[in-house]
Amino acid sequence: MSEDILKINNLFVNYKTRQGDVKAVNNLSFTLEKGDKFGLVGESGSGKTTLANAILRMIKPPGYIPSGDIFLDGTDVLNLSDSDLRKFRSTSVAIVPQAAMNALNPVRRVGQQMNDAFRDHGVKLSKSDLNYRLGELMETVGLRSDVPNLFPHELSGGMKQRVSIAMAVSLNPTLIIADEPTSALDVVVQRQVIDTLDQVKEKYGATILLVGHDMGLMAQFSNRLGIMYAGELVEVGSSDKIFSKPNHPYTEILISSLPDTKTKRKLVGIPGLPPTLLDPPTGCKFHPRCPKVFDPCSDLIPDKEIIDNKSFFSCHLASKNRAKVK
Ligand code: SF4
Repeated sequence: MSEDILKINNLFVNYKTRQGDVKAVNNLSFTLEKGDKFGLVGESGSGKTTLANAILRMIKPPGYIPSGDIFLDGTDVLNLSDSDLRKFRSTSVAIVPQAAMNALNPVRRVGQQMNDAFRDHGVKLSKSDLNYRLGELMETVGLRSDVPNLFPHELSGGMKQRVSIAMAVSLNPTLIIADEPTSALDVVVQRQVIDTLDQVKEKYGATILLVGHDMGLMAQFSNRLGIMYAGELVEVGSSDKIFSKPNHPYTEILISSLPDTKTKRKLVGIPGLPPTLLDPPTGCKFHPRCPKVFDPCSDLIPDKEIIDNKSFFSCHLASKNRAKVK
């Protein structure tokens, strides 16, 4: 039986503002199985990066976590001491950031930066062992063995992102969070970076949480998907099932916004704008933009419709469809 690596229960993440609290993540629960390639998708401001930062315990004031649990491989992440948290990062969870250039130190060579991470986690390697390890990591991410001798400004955008992936896997973490790792890259390099993530997942057996808004990339990469809207997960399930038959109208529109070169169907946009999370709509938060909105949607929050122990969606259409069948 597959093992749950990450368990998030009823998590809330708020940001304090003068006007009140912004609920960026609102009562969110889901699990990741060992080896999952989970795609977390949604528009900008839907709470994806806030959720990723919460898993890394990187929520900074004015953000705070009023309640909820995060367990990674049995570790209670929200109750780690500062010293345990330092060890936990990189060895249990690592991030491939959105802007690799900003994540790399511009005045230190790539290999020196990677060695800093080893030493900080108590891994002391001789010069020859370090060179061997760096060479192995470079080979895994498809880079030349001399890249550790270079400064970040000597690398292209795609190479920097691969260096970030090599850094993320260097201490063999259980979970790698890749936060929009391809957003600043052209489509060819995007594909290469996604293939690299796939290779490191195969080689190191890590579980990957890929955060993004590009449904095309998610279709290529993920085996499971979570769709976020206004701080909530509105649908979770296997990528195959969601792409072939989405249950939530928001998921349906996200998929319809993908170009299809075979059918050349008309692209569908999402009307309106994401809601402000200071004062979100009542009932289903998607109701002001939903093409299938009906009576209860503006007043009642939809229940979670459980499909199986790893799949659910939240939409009143579930009860409407059940009533039709009766
Ligand atoms: Fe649309 Fe209503 Fe479902 Fe919300 S609950 S997604 S408004 S049909």
